[in-house]
Amino acid sequence: MSNQDCTIGLAGLGTMGRNLVLNMADHGFAVAVYNRTGEKTREFMEQEVGGRNIQPGYTLAEFAGHLQTPRAIIILVAAGPPVDAVIDELLPFLSPGDLLIDGGNSNFQDTNRRGRTLAARGLLFLGLGISGGETGARYGPSLMPGGPLAAYERVRPILEAAAAKVRGDPCVAYLGGGSAGHFVKMVHNGIEYALMELLAEAYDLLRRGLGLSPGELAVIFEEWSRGELASYLVEITPPILRRLEEKTGQPLIDLILDRARQKGTGKWTSQEAMDLQVPTPTIDTAVMMRDLSGYKAEREAASRVLQGPPPAFPGDRPAFIRLLGRSLYAAMVLAFAQGLALLQRASQVYDYRLELATVARIWRGGCIIRAALLEEIRAAYQTRPDLAHLLLDARLGREVMARQPDLRTVVTTAADLGIPAPGFMVSLAYYDAWRSARLPANLIQAQRDYFGAHTYERLDLPGAFHTRWTED
Ligand code: NDP
Repeated sequence: MSNQDCTIGLAGLGTMGRNLVLNMADHGFAVAVYNRTGEKTREFMEQEVGGRNIQPGYTLAEFAGHLQTPRAIIILVAAGPPVDAVIDELLPFLSPGDLLIDGGNSNFQDTNRRGRTLAARGLLFLGLGISGGETGARYGPSLMPGGPLAAYERVRPILEAAAAKVRGDPCVAYLGGGSAGHFVKMVHNGIEYALMELLAEAYDLLRRGLGLSPGELAVIFEEWSRGELASYLVEITPPILRRLEEKTGQPLIDLILDRARQKGTGKWTSQEAMDLQVPTPTIDTAVMMRDLSGYKAEREAASRVLQGPPPAFPGDRPAFIRLLGRSLYAAMVLAFAQGLALLQRASQVYDYRLELATVARIWRGGCIIRAALLEEIRAAYQTRPDLAHLLLDARLGREVMARQPDLRTVVTTAADLGIPAPGFMVSLAYYDAWRSARLPANLIQAQRDYFGAHTYERLDLPGAFHTRWTED
């Protein structure tokens, strides 16, 4: 069948693909669909499509034949080699001017490579970061597109219709050339890792330190979700904490194995931050703690021999809960500051020309890191697009400064109780380092010069200096 009446095609009917198809169709777009395993396409058509204008392709020829030309096809398959496999299989059915859009969590360097290869064949390519999970894909994700502007303009009405809306404003915008979209999505995920680590540490301090039950914790997170910490990740925590296991009636959270998995986007963010020499310690720590959580058997063995202080909190509990919430806000600002600093640097190095106010704007809805705080961040970059660092925004800098005594109390309390809170700890250290006009790197330089004649610069004189540190 080759009726060419679909505006958009989607290859990959997994969790994200199926839901995005229904979302686009609900906004009036005719969608052609394809999946490697045809049985899944059949199931989708029979069970989920209803009366929507969705055309199945059981072969790639049939799929391509459903599409208006020039074609526009979203690929939503597992990141890595599957994306190349789908592109290679599609190529024989494409014509110059057709547009491929990779909506998966692809590594931005793969996106650069694919963009170059496809451009050489006269095809357009967009790297599209999608955030919001299953529900986001179905009812409105945050969409982060990058690539040729003309390619974006072609699918802009579809993406704007499908995206989440904040007061009518769609959470999608053209971000920049090449891999800008996938780079922004990678950093989004890095920030997501950092926020989840901070929330897990707050949970641990309250659960182990204050001995609160999951139900009592749910009340605290609920209160937090109504104030300055209002955000998706804080909001989803109370229902998680309240869920009881049907069989035993026990809180489900207490039965979940404490080993966090990862698909790599947090690690990529840290790796890229190190390559670009941008400090992102809260994100790095979040990745490290997921790795450390994987050593469950070793931790259990160590817990039987290595002693620490008793984790019982002796102080004013309501006061601690209040200052923990305030610290969480400060640490969240610091996590966003690190991610945005990375984006700023990457934008210069890779010539993305990112507008950070736009990035903050499209993260306000639909995505996993959406937070009331993003409105403040958007305002900060809107007022000063050249803001060198988020902490230099007068309002946000003042808010973090005002909360630093609380952050110090959380860090010292965690240390006193022997409860690991490295996310809070490095966030505070990042703040202290960032505001230090003088750091001890002078000693490091002197040592480098001592053992390797690497030279050093001086505060009082220009040029490079070397000292013969030893008498021989
Ligand atoms: P699923 O695991 O639900 O589905 C994977 C899809 O990829 C299936 O359609 C599968 O086809 C297809 N696939 C896998 N390998 C190949 C291959 N070699 N050739 C052709 N097709 C292949 O994935 P998701 O929908 O969860 O994720 C899709 C992408 O979206 C990933 O990059 C993911 O990281 C990203 N993403 C996921 C989010 C989520 O919350 N799940 C959120 C944001 C982004 P088949 O049925 O034949 O196996």
